[in-house]
Amino acid sequence: MKALYPGSFDPLTLGHLDLIERGASLVEELVVAVLQNPGKSPAFSLEQRLHQIRCSTGHLANVNVISFDGLTVECAKSHGTRLILRGLRAMSDFEYELQIAHTNRSLDPDFETIFLSTSAHYSFLSSSVVKEVARFGGSVDHMVPPVVAEDLVRFFNSAFSQPQR
Ligand code: ADP
Repeated sequence: MKALYPGSFDPLTLGHLDLIERGASLVEELVVAVLQNPGKSPAFSLEQRLHQIRCSTGHLANVNVISFDGLTVECAKSHGTRLILRGLRAMSDFEYELQIAHTNRSLDPDFETIFLSTSAHYSFLSSSVVKEVARFGGSVDHMVPPVVAEDLVRFFNSAFSQPQR
């Protein structure tokens, strides 16, 4: 069995990584698919996000990291799977995730979404929270892999060194 774990990963957090590790232990191959969404302006470029995830999942032999744009179902099909993995942290995730899962099944009824609940100690973690803490100089070492912590410091140092208008 093969599954696709799609997301923005802007940036990867330890919550995402926990989900990748647990998901990879359930399937033969887990494809982590990084969304290149032209409608969003991410803090980290697609190349940076791919690098962050590849560096952080090097210990997982059955994890493959790719990028995609367009529909998740098309991406999954082109990688030979109809199984999508997503994570749930709280009720607030549930409504959104259920809507996406129904949308995907309306596009192709053969699709299934499996949800893994967050590990309790990562339930507060999101990419936005991490960026907010890093922006104001707080330590994010317990929230993200080392490669991401370094990128966050670089990103906000260069953002603050720009002349203010
Ligand atoms: P998207 O923009 O597609 O929501 P994200 O990168 O924010 O992309 O999240 C990808 C998936 O990972 C979502 O299913 C989200 O619920 C899940 N996720 C995010 N943070 C955590 C966490 N701390 N624990 C478990 N799942 C998480």
